[in-house]
Amino acid sequence: MQPILLKNGRIIDPVNGIDMVGNLLLHLAKCAQINPSSLPEGTREIDLTGKWVVPGLIDIHVHLREPGEEYKETIESGAQAAAAGGFTAVACMPNTKPVLDSAQMIEAVLSKAQKAACRVYPVGAISSHGQGSTLANMGEMFAAGAVAFTDDGLPVSDSQLMRRAMEYAGNYGVPIISHSEEIGLSRHGSMNEGPMSTRMGIIGIPHAAEEIMVYRDLALAELTGQHVHLAHISTKESVSLIRRAKANGCPVSAETAPHYFSLTEKAVGKYDTYAKMNPPLRMDYDVEAIKEGLQDGTLDVIASDHAPHSDLEKELEFDRAANGIIGLETSLSLALQLVRSNCIDEKKLVELMSSNPAKALGLPGGSLTVGNMADVTVIDPLRQYTYQRDEVVSRSKNSPFLGWNLTGKAVLTIVGGKVTYEDL
Ligand SMILES: [Zn+2]
Repeated sequence: MQPILLKNGRIIDPVNGIDMVGNLLLHLAKCAQINPSSLPEGTREIDLTGKWVVPGLIDIHVHLREPGEEYKETIESGAQAAAAGGFTAVACMPNTKPVLDSAQMIEAVLSKAQKAACRVYPVGAISSHGQGSTLANMGEMFAAGAVAFTDDGLPVSDSQLMRRAMEYAGNYGVPIISHSEEIGLSRHGSMNEGPMSTRMGIIGIPHAAEEIMVYRDLALAELTGQHVHLAHISTKESVSLIRRAKANGCPVSAETAPHYFSLTEKAVGKYDTYAKMNPPLRMDYDVEAIKEGLQDGTLDVIASDHAPHSDLEKELEFDRAANGIIGLETSLSLALQLVRSNCIDEKKLVELMSSNPAKALGLPGGSLTVGNMADVTVIDPLRQYTYQRDEVVSRSKNSPFLGWNLTGKAVLTIVGGKVTYEDL
């Protein structure tokens, strides 16, 4: 593999307290040296003046749809979209068809991922077939390479089952990821519940549907002493609950997705199904609270909840359309908007999208420590582009951000010293 010298970039590595303009050498698939005095033979030198060199971005909440719905996305196409978005690693959710609930399924994903454009870390199901009634064989999945467990897409309604899942996962030192949703309250809803849903004649999902389960899973984390990771947080009260639990020493981490700090329920507009997701887009005050949560460390991670759907599932009546949007290719640009508006600084951005995701799931990566694998993302913070449907790398195009003028993107993605995406 050709050695690479990333020259004159702003190297930002919060784990090692680095924020400096310099040269980073990648050699033998590793971060070899900062400001080397000599170069190995045949080194490719890339001038990155004005750009940021950061540890490879990690998205810990991605749906790759394989096996079962390859017409929406595959491990290969999803990994290419990830690379184009600046990600060097993703964790994929188990609610595929069939569900990832056995060692064989985990192994199958890992085997397909070997040739993919990013590292893929499979998350196993908590319950058999994701049906919420009996625990899946978590030990066997952990041994096969599962990095966490969740029934994402479906809440675990049985609190005792969730408690046992946390205890088992704790034995293996991996977290349970909570899709926090009280299904009795949310079951028939398609958007945020409030005056707007009433006016539009759409059944709403109240904030409480999320908050009740956030509270339950914080309580279970305290009860068991085991790490729970709360997925796609969308409401103000959820942020408050997490903040309080953390202050009390509860072993919790939490993520939000770019749409929850970039859009409100108003995006549903004229019944736009690209703005339909679960949890639903919320209110202005929720968006403010999410931003505060990112700022003060209550929310540890930005994850896309990349959920590809074909036009078949989206071009339907609002209540019949599928939930979810793609996000791998817009996540970084939307997060950079938080930096430009002084909500967070550059260091925080790298923490939220690289070092904290690595920490939350115990994954390698997240720093440029010499000797670590050479997973690196180069960001051009000023690059302007219009996000257009025919340029989407993902196999599905369901994004409410199509047509948006965005500023800042990944221009070079490197996994293990190998370039997986280049747009310099
Ligand atoms: Zn979910």
